[in-house]
Amino acid sequence: MHQSLPSNVLTRRRFFEQLGLIGGASLVMSAMSSLELMAGQAGVRPTLSGKPAKSRVIILGAGVSGLVVAYELNKLGYDYRVLEARDRVGGLNWSVRRGTEHTEFVDGKSGEKQVCAWDEGHYVNVGPWRIPYTHTGVLNYCRELGVPVQVFVNEADNSYFFYENNAAGALSNKRVRLREVKADMIGHTNELIAKAIDKNALDVPLSADDKQRFVKYLVSQGYLDATDHAYKAFEFRGPGDPYALDVLLESGFANRVRSIPATDGTSAAPMFQPVGGMDQFPKGFQRALPANRIAFNAEVQSVLQSDTGVKVRYLDTKSGKTTEVEADFVVACLPMTILSKIEINVSDEMKAAIKQVTHSNSAKMGLMMKRRFWEEDDHIFGGHLYSNLPLGEFSYPSYDYFTKKGVLLGLYANGPVGDLLDRTVAERIEHVLTHASKVHPQVRQELESAFTVFWKKVKYSEGGYAGGAAAARREQLSKMENRIVIGSAATTPYSQPDWQEGAVSAGWQALQTVHARAMRG
Ligand SMILES: Cc1cc2nc3c(=O)[nH]c(=O)nc-3n(C[C@H](O)[C@H](O)[C@H](O)COP(=O)(O)OP(=O)(O)OC[C@H]3O[C@@H](n4cnc5c(N)ncnc54)[C@H](O)[C@@H]3O)c2cc1C
Repeated sequence: MHQSLPSNVLTRRRFFEQLGLIGGASLVMSAMSSLELMAGQAGVRPTLSGKPAKSRVIILGAGVSGLVVAYELNKLGYDYRVLEARDRVGGLNWSVRRGTEHTEFVDGKSGEKQVCAWDEGHYVNVGPWRIPYTHTGVLNYCRELGVPVQVFVNEADNSYFFYENNAAGALSNKRVRLREVKADMIGHTNELIAKAIDKNALDVPLSADDKQRFVKYLVSQGYLDATDHAYKAFEFRGPGDPYALDVLLESGFANRVRSIPATDGTSAAPMFQPVGGMDQFPKGFQRALPANRIAFNAEVQSVLQSDTGVKVRYLDTKSGKTTEVEADFVVACLPMTILSKIEINVSDEMKAAIKQVTHSNSAKMGLMMKRRFWEEDDHIFGGHLYSNLPLGEFSYPSYDYFTKKGVLLGLYANGPVGDLLDRTVAERIEHVLTHASKVHPQVRQELESAFTVFWKKVKYSEGGYAGGAAAARREQLSKMENRIVIGSAATTPYSQPDWQEGAVSAGWQALQTVHARAMRG
C-alpha cells in the first residue's frame, strides 16, 4: 500500500528533485549513478522483491557470475546452494601466491605441477587484473562487500617502447620512452598547427582573438617556444634531442598512445584493482554468504530436469562419493567448455548455442624478482612495456612500490604464442627470459622463480574468457528452459564477457529470470 509521507521526510525521489533544482540534470545523473539507480556498463542492478513458495535453487559454479546470483538470492531469502568443483571461489578470478598449486590438465590427464614459493604478500593475478572505472557493477559490489581497491596504473610515462626486426624503422631495436613519444608527437603537431595559423595558412573558423588564444594553448600544451613557436627539447622530456616527426611516424609508436578507446570505456584512467589481489573480490562475496551455502570440491556431472524439479548429480572429488541433490531451479554459471560436456536435458538449440561459444587461449606468467630493478634502475612505476616481442602484454606491478622484491607480469597473451602451450614450464620460462632480456637485461639475473598459467590447460576452465557472441546466440543462451537458466559471462546482455562486469550483468539477468519463473510457481 502506498502511503503519502510528511513533506519534511527526504525520500530518494525528493532528494533527486532538490538536486535537480540546484544543479540541473547532470547533477541528478551523477548522484543517481553513485546510488546505483543509473546504469553503469553492466546496466542496473535488478531490484527484486517477494519470496516464492518453491525457492530451492542450485547454482553451478562459484565464479563471479555464480557468486552474484548466490549473493542476491541470499538477500531474497531463497533456499539456495552453490556447487563448486574447485576448493576456492572465483573461477577465472585467480590470484597466485605462496602455496598456490597448479597441475596442468591435458586431454583429461594430469600434467606438470607447479607450487608457488614466493614470499608472503606477493601475488600475480593470472585471470582478471584490472577494473575500469566504468564497471560500476563490479566496483559497487567491492564497496558493498568492503573490498578495498587501489589504482591500477595502466599507463606509466616512463615505460618503454621496444620493437625488434625493423618494425619501427630507425627506432627499431632500441628502448624509447613513452614520455619521449608523447612529448615529441604533441610538440611537432602543435608546432605545425601554430605556424600554419601564424601564416594564416589554416582555415580556422575562429575570430582573431580566439586564434590568439588557440596559439597560446598550442604553445603551452605542445612545449613550443613562445617566440618562434618551434618545438625544442625540454628538461622533463628527458635527455637528448626530440625524434624527428618522420622517424616517429614510421615507428608507429604514437598510434598506441591513447588511453581513451573509441569503442568502449575499458582503459580510460583510472583503472582499479583490489588491494592484495583480484581474488579479494570473490572472497568478499564468500565472506558475505553463510558458510554452508557453498559446497567445494563438488564436480557437477549431470543436470536433469522434469516438470517437478531438477536433479543434480555431483562428485565429491575429495571423498570420491557421488551425490544427487534436488532443487526447483538451476542456474548454470559454468564455462561453456564445461557445460557442453555435462549431461543436461535442455533443447538441441540450446546445446548448439553452448557448443558455439569459444573461450580464449589466454596465458599469463608471473616472475618473482629479487630486486625491483624496473623501479630502481629504470624509474618505471606500473604500466606496461609496448613491444612487438612474443610476450603479449609485459607489465610492472601497481603495488608495493619502493619495496625490495616484486612480481612482474612477464607474459599475458590471449592467443597462441608459437607452440608455447605445448612446451614444458621450464621452456616457457626460458622463452620469456630470452625476450624480456632484450629490454631488461637484469631479468635473468634477478629472477627468483616463475609461475605460469595457460588457461587451456586448467581443469574446470579449459580456456580463458568466453568470446563475444552475436545477439541471437546470446538471446538463445539466456532463455530459461523450464527449470534451467544459464548465468555465466557468455550470456551477458550489456558488457563484454571478457570482463568481470560481463559476469555481473549475466548473473543479474539469470537472477531476474529465475526469480520471475519462481514467482510464477
Ligand atoms: C587471462 C584473463 C584476463 C582477464 N582480464 C580481466 C580484467 O582485467 N578485468 C576483468 O574485469 N575481467 C577480466 N577477465 C574476464 C573475467 O575473468 C571473466 O569475465 C569472469 O571471471 C567470468 O566469470 P564467470 O563466473 O562467468 O566464469 P568462471 O570464472 O569461469 O566461473 C565458472 C565456475 O564454474 C566452476 N566449475 C567448472 N566446472 C565445474 C563443474 N563441473 N562443477 C562445478 N563447478 C564447476 C569453476 O571452477 C568456476 O568457479 C579476464 C579473464 C582472463 C582469462
